[in-house]
Amino acid sequence: MKNRRNRERIRGYKSGYGRKKEPKGARVPVCPYCGRVSVLRPAEYVYGENTIVTGSLLYVCSGYPACGAYVGVHEGTKKPKGTLADSELRNKRIRAHRAIDRIATAGCMSRDGVYVWLSGRLNLPYEETHIGYFSDYLCEETIRECEKVMENWNGNRRGRAA
Ligand SMILES: [Zn+2]
Repeated sequence: MKNRRNRERIRGYKSGYGRKKEPKGARVPVCPYCGRVSVLRPAEYVYGENTIVTGSLLYVCSGYPACGAYVGVHEGTKKPKGTLADSELRNKRIRAHRAIDRIATAGCMSRDGVYVWLSGRLNLPYEETHIGYFSDYLCEETIRECEKVMENWNGNRRGRAA
């Protein structure tokens, strides 16, 4: 009896700690604008008092603030959410995310469905269809394609209602 309890405890211990660790030497992203390496910093480094999520991290170009590129990190990891982006590209990525959100919120496609559809429209493998890795051009294409879908969707709805 005592033995069994011990075994169970060991099994519990193992499953709790069985998660894979981050790969060793996970690469620190390089700034695509100036070629410098980035540095993992607290969000306060960039946002100061305007930091929304305290304790969150960013990969910031080591040339900051002369070079203004940075990217967020997935919560609880050191994994960047994409490539470093300057203010213009960050803005476009936000707009592309919003365009996708509008389609999913309208109920026109599921969120996953939007990415499947988008990968086809942009001729990208599904695994590479992540806004965080998109260039200015791909963001613009995403916004344009999403707007077309929404126009058709709204048009059809109007047609059905009439
Ligand atoms: Zn840079």
